[in-house]
Amino acid sequence: MTATPYPYDVPVSQALFDRATAVIPGGVNSPVRAFRAVGGTPRFMVSGTGPYLTDADGREYVDLVCSWGPMILGHAHPAVVEALQTAATKGTSYGTPCPGEVELAEQIVGRVGPVEQVRLVNSGTEATMSAVRLARGFTGRSKVVKFAGCYHGHVDALLAAAGSGLVTFGLPDTPGVTGASAADTIVLPYNDLAALTTAFETYGSEIACVITEAAAANMGVVPPQPGFSQGLQTLCTRFGALLISDEVMTGFRVSRGGWYGIEGVAADLFTFGKVMGGGLPAAAFGGRADVMGHLAPAGPVYQAGTLSGNPLAVAAGLATLRHCTDEVYAAVDATAATVARLASEALAKEGVAHRVNTAGSLFSIFFCDHEVVDYATATQQETLRYKAFFHAMLSEGVYLPPSAYEAWFVSAAHDDRALDRVAAALPKAAAAAARGSV
Ligand SMILES: *Cc1c(COP(=O)(O)O)cnc(C)c1O
Repeated sequence: MTATPYPYDVPVSQALFDRATAVIPGGVNSPVRAFRAVGGTPRFMVSGTGPYLTDADGREYVDLVCSWGPMILGHAHPAVVEALQTAATKGTSYGTPCPGEVELAEQIVGRVGPVEQVRLVNSGTEATMSAVRLARGFTGRSKVVKFAGCYHGHVDALLAAAGSGLVTFGLPDTPGVTGASAADTIVLPYNDLAALTTAFETYGSEIACVITEAAAANMGVVPPQPGFSQGLQTLCTRFGALLISDEVMTGFRVSRGGWYGIEGVAADLFTFGKVMGGGLPAAAFGGRADVMGHLAPAGPVYQAGTLSGNPLAVAAGLATLRHCTDEVYAAVDATAATVARLASEALAKEGVAHRVNTAGSLFSIFFCDHEVVDYATATQQETLRYKAFFHAMLSEGVYLPPSAYEAWFVSAAHDDRALDRVAAALPKAAAAAARGSV
């Protein structure tokens, strides 16, 4: 099947996509951007300002993706732009330490209590990959526990799917990941402490770490149930494994201190990305000083990066974090709640079965009639309805995630005008969802 019949012409994006497909696999540099889950032509964006994106055909959208999280202040925030302009005139990379990376590390350490030391990297993937290596190096153990439906970037060992039993070793989730890389990964259902207890009782002395999304948001939003996060920490401590809380998405977005700032569970290691880079490639992992002290050059576990702590990236990250005030978090929380409520009301009016899941200001809508607590329940939804809903919103000028399994994101720049446009688009989209077609 080629592109879904789509009533709105975007000839410039289509021409760019055709050119892109010739020279870039699938036409994109990250798969979800290709619109495969929803069909149609991906929009090539040429500018962003505040809550809006403009595509190459000159159409403006209210952006409810916000670059998958980083743009918490909105696009082209003046303070971030100015910080970048100033930094750029001083050179773009030194390959030496620079003052900005110290300040960014101090910001992170100052916001997340259990993080005593932090190492800057370039992507969330690098952060989780390095944190897992460090956990293995620190404990001298090899196995890693992850939860089905949690995404930690495209690290080989973490691209493992659950086997058939309750506690089984992972199977490669993609060609190119060897059985050996996946074999040390144990995949368990999210929000299931009983399964984790069984895994620890069976393989406890071999488990280096448990990695979890602080609040799962890459299978749609599935918050940890009360007691789950604390239970993870308790079990890890009992069995001598490290807990890695992946806050790449939640970090500095759901509160000043990320999900830790909401739930207060002290993991041994944390990973960060997205917001802390202010839209540039920057990420980090950090935690207990005795564990972080095992990293080279202080300790034996090797980890490095030519562009790590890059002066432009840290300038954008610092400007962003410094402007993430209590007012910003209050605005983001209120806007997220409003968008979720408006969408839910519109769908209810059309009689469309749905569930709104939230984790702080992260939220997503599942087109189903049951509670969504893990990957198995998340995947029992009518994605056909999301597809219709998505395209109707798009044609009305609202850019939603092009997949039913992603969180929706807002920024502090989403003002009444932007919210009015979302509200105006919703009735048509809800009707499309009810029909199951655009
Ligand atoms: C986005 C994300 C990652 C991967 O980050 P990249 O910068 O895309 O490599 C890892 N973990 C979580 C929870 C994420 O949301």
